[in-house]
Amino acid sequence: MYDFLFKPFSEMTDEDYARVGFKSGLEIHQQLLTQKKLFCRCPAGRYSDQYNAEILRAMRPTLSELGEYDGTALMEFKTKKEIVYRINYETVCTYEMDDTPPFELNEEALDIALEIAMTYGCAMVDEIHIARKQYLDGSIPTGFQRTTIAGVDGAIPYKDRMVDIIQLGLEEDACREISDVGHRRVYITDRLGMPLIETVTGPDMRTPTEVAEVGDICRRIVRSTGKVRTGIGAARQDVNVSVTGGTRIEIKGTPRIPDIPLLTYNEAMRQWNLLRLREELKTRGITAETFSARTEIVTTAAPQDAFPSRPGSDREGDDRGLRRARGLQGSVALADADRHPLRAGDFGSRARHRLPHRTAEHHQFRQSRGDAAPAPSGPHCARR
Ligand SMILES: [Zn+2]
Repeated sequence: MYDFLFKPFSEMTDEDYARVGFKSGLEIHQQLLTQKKLFCRCPAGRYSDQYNAEILRAMRPTLSELGEYDGTALMEFKTKKEIVYRINYETVCTYEMDDTPPFELNEEALDIALEIAMTYGCAMVDEIHIARKQYLDGSIPTGFQRTTIAGVDGAIPYKDRMVDIIQLGLEEDACREISDVGHRRVYITDRLGMPLIETVTGPDMRTPTEVAEVGDICRRIVRSTGKVRTGIGAARQDVNVSVTGGTRIEIKGTPRIPDIPLLTYNEAMRQWNLLRLREELKTRGITAETFSARTEIVTTAAPQDAFPSRPGSDREGDDRGLRRARGLQGSVALADADRHPLRAGDFGSRARHRLPHRTAEHHQFRQSRGDAAPAPSGPHCARR
């Protein structure tokens, strides 16, 4: 079945992508335009490479509640990295840098997240529960990111169909990475803890162009609120790609939507050609037992400064820490005992007043195609 040969990017047609079973979904991270960070009262969006102090931290794995070592933590430990945090007293406090308990969730950020969730036609959650996601590469000093879900099961109209919005989360941003040379990785902490939303779409896109178009629609929808940050690094996309018979692969932290078509094409082609190779090996009767290979480690042969990191390229646009962390982190988020859940309705009714009329039409559309999600209630709908 893997007889299809990929053509050059510019010659691929929608039918070609259908033949290989191209499938893609997006996770879009978008910073919110708030005065302050999400769980403390430090200012948000004040970037500077100036710092007043450095903190050196060595990571070491500890036993979990289950009496086991986390595999990812062990892996990070084995890299023997020294983590250096550059801190500026104007943009960071003991909440981000240490284990000071969180302040109340930033209401301004929650307000915006709920508004955007409603704009996507999401079913709203009754309570906002704060959870922790592990981050073990050092890009978050505490080792975890606080995160919460604001809405689920939304959808946006696209072409003749709807693209699902699986969930909309509200979470903290990670540190900016300054350099990563040898055993020393340097972060600056100004971006740490800034509120961002994560929009997760269904795997509903069938061609690379569709992925970029849906990404652009989502970008415009959130920007229409006027309450999100713009500019390089304010929005970053993770793109999931698979083909028939392949595995879902996540391309991390693409800051530019126009890059998405070629990236997804390349990943689909890579998977497809691996599958073709596997078929060829099978037809030639080559198995793990009959195959031998010689390996040599070449990285140790090069001098340590042969791969310098790019100085000055790590403004807010750089996302390597977040990308790496997301690649490593487990999918499980643990409930955070430091903060009680909040009643979402208290905030939601306020945001609902500001919604455009589109949402009600949107729900009618969804109901007309048999979706179970109930129409939103509230003053905005009563008005119609
Ligand atoms: Zn702070």
